[in-house]
Amino acid sequence: MKGNETAEKLVIIGSGPAGLTAAIYGCRADLNPLVFMGTKYGGQLMLTSEVENFPGFPDPVLGPDLISRMKAQAERLGARMVQDDVVAVNFKSYPFEIQTASGITKALSVIIATGANPRRLDLQSEMRLMGKGVSNCAVCDAFFFRGKKVAVVGGGDTAMEEATFLTKFASSVQVIHRRNELRASAALKNEAMANQKISFLWDSSVTEVLGDGKVRGVKVKNLKTGKEDELELDGVFVAIGYDPNTEIFRGQVDLDPKGYVAVRNGTESSVPGVFVAGDVHDFRYRQAITAAADGCKALIDAEKFVKQKLETTPAN
Ligand code: NAP
Repeated sequence: MKGNETAEKLVIIGSGPAGLTAAIYGCRADLNPLVFMGTKYGGQLMLTSEVENFPGFPDPVLGPDLISRMKAQAERLGARMVQDDVVAVNFKSYPFEIQTASGITKALSVIIATGANPRRLDLQSEMRLMGKGVSNCAVCDAFFFRGKKVAVVGGGDTAMEEATFLTKFASSVQVIHRRNELRASAALKNEAMANQKISFLWDSSVTEVLGDGKVRGVKVKNLKTGKEDELELDGVFVAIGYDPNTEIFRGQVDLDPKGYVAVRNGTESSVPGVFVAGDVHDFRYRQAITAAADGCKALIDAEKFVKQKLETTPAN
């Protein structure tokens, strides 16, 4: 192995709760982490309004505030933050190579924490009312819809889980799906269909979210008849899937058929020394707190890897 003396011990790619927690733990483990935050740093929390379920915050904290606190904590401990996008990686050479607009960085270990983006309906009104009645996360926001009428858009597992979860708070949940058949697995589908509070609007798509300052309903179009209707609602949960941010890793680590990084033994990718944390592999839990926990686990695994590399590699 050559070039160890110029390689970073640890490069973290991503700056949501997974990446920033890995950075905090990485400083304490003396790995002197370098974090490529991305130009649009912070991940999904930057688009979240009040967070009420992150332990340690008895009063609600705004998503961007939570991120800036995590970042400040990592910086205080010595993490180096660079607001660059990683444009390519080479995990076939060692030390690994990470390319940004500023050049190539070599690293003995890498944590991939680039997250995932919820798919959008691509409506201007959806973005305008995001956080004002439009949400991508029932677990985060259902609480604000106690006794209210809400809709869930989508027909997959996430949509069924969100619809069922929402019935704990909302008075009614209307699932709006573009076909007349659900994509969701039998168990989640049956559970949702048996729930008295959930009704289904088939063959329909949302063409506009209505409201001025907060959601008051949606315009829906029947895709078979072309007929348009308006539904009165207090909230709209868009649950039409997620796209993991893995394009730059294609061909470098194994991805699953949906494009998430394939993980074994908790945080290991298919390449020894490249670890994975947060929504970039975890399509199941997708919470800030689970991503943060993942960042901690990935760091502990990366620390062991680096220690072993440094012990077993003779000085050049
Ligand atoms: P998904 O399986 O890709 O389903 C997305 C749903 O949204 C589909 O019903 C799709 O309609 C609809 N959709 C997509 N784009 C749309 C658009 N532009 N407008 C309207 N509707 C649109 O995504 P997911 O439900 O998030 O699940 C992702 C993965 O995670 C899956 O593998 C799933 O099994 C897994 N997951 C598992 C669990 C669990 O096991 N507890 C929970 C959540 C997720 P079509 O059906 O017409 O394509």
